[in-house]
Amino acid sequence: MLLRCVLCSAEHPPTLRYACATCGGLLEVAGESGLASPAGALGMWRNASRLSVGDASAIVSMGEGETPLLRAGKVEAQLPGFRGEIWLKDETRNPSGSFKDRLVSAAISKAIELGARGVVCASSGNAGASVAAYAARAGMPALIVVPAATPDGKVTQIAAHGAVLLKVPGHYSRSYDLAMALAEHQGLANLTTTFLNPYGVDALKLVGAEITGQLGGRTPSHVLVPTGSGPLVKGVAQGFAQAESPPKLIAVQAEGCAPIVRAFEAGAAAVTAWGMPQTIASGISDPLIGYEGDGSYTLKLVRDSGGLAVAVSDDQLRDAMQTLAQREGLYAEPTGASPVAALKKLWAAGRLDARAVAVCMITGHGFKDVRVYQAMPARSHLVDDPDDLAAVARLCSSALEEQGRARG
Ligand SMILES: *Cc1c(COP(=O)(O)O)cnc(C)c1O
Ligand SMILES: [Zn+2]
Repeated sequence: MLLRCVLCSAEHPPTLRYACATCGGLLEVAGESGLASPAGALGMWRNASRLSVGDASAIVSMGEGETPLLRAGKVEAQLPGFRGEIWLKDETRNPSGSFKDRLVSAAISKAIELGARGVVCASSGNAGASVAAYAARAGMPALIVVPAATPDGKVTQIAAHGAVLLKVPGHYSRSYDLAMALAEHQGLANLTTTFLNPYGVDALKLVGAEITGQLGGRTPSHVLVPTGSGPLVKGVAQGFAQAESPPKLIAVQAEGCAPIVRAFEAGAAAVTAWGMPQTIASGISDPLIGYEGDGSYTLKLVRDSGGLAVAVSDDQLRDAMQTLAQREGLYAEPTGASPVAALKKLWAAGRLDARAVAVCMITGHGFKDVRVYQAMPARSHLVDDPDDLAAVARLCSSALEEQGRARG
């Protein structure tokens, strides 16, 4: 197993390095460990041989991966004339509530194998929460750097695990730079979950085999991926690389931070940084300042798949969150609901095949960002006198009637 540069193909030994020594390009893992799965391995580690960790005693795992794939009949019903299938890959079920656990479990395990004594991570919240949890389990020092405006749910989660938390004013890219500098200065492994850590990104490829297995051996026609810098896009692309007809990848961004969509629509090869992000989708609010090349790389993967990049508005995100929560039973943060918003938008614009078999990556849990839900209408009533059952029953029957109408 080696590290290989995605730009110049130079090969490097598998150490804790984050860029090609020859050209500065992104590194990817080439090869697999072949490690026999340890007894009692959970989730993605049941496929340990396909990951990069060669020493079973280094594995830090809480059962990440192997998440459910749920048919979304109610979302299908909201697309008039649609005759295909929509599926939800429920990544909210990961141990810390987002798909970042897949990357972090692989990256921290590899860091331990390579002798790291501590870890640092820049994060828009979820990666930080994940690193904080896994570092706690490993008994390792952890430094987490987040934008000061990160949602409370995520910040609270990071703090709860006892990580040292640094809040940096401004957009995510400033936290990214500080984490990079601290890794160097303090001699810490950098687990930042952009393309920086190749061992983490590598683990995302297993999503492909999981989905194929869950679809009874079929390959979906489309996979919709909430996209910040794009490691999950790469993971999905890689995961289906051997398929006879790999899925079209749809990168979903928020209108208030859409550097990859902007370049896609302009037909440009290079992604340029976004000025000031403004969106409720904190998980994909990444302006890519200083690492625009990550975005260009992701854009190329999307184009090569025959797919597209699409941006959704905050109102479309709220609508998709309500669809998932009230009709499918799934509680997702705004970013996690973005693929459903994108499906509705693409269908309305006639840009989705009526027989598509589409998988939506529902990447993060609703518990992480409750503000947006709190501002939505709720069927909540104060019961002044619980002993007056007749009055409570009247209230319930009209409320239940209204609920039934809303569900159609
Ligand atoms: C980090 C994150 C993303 C974006 O993933 P990238 O792989 O960085 O593009 C999407 N959704 C959620 C909930 C996230 O936390
Ligand atoms: Zn290179």
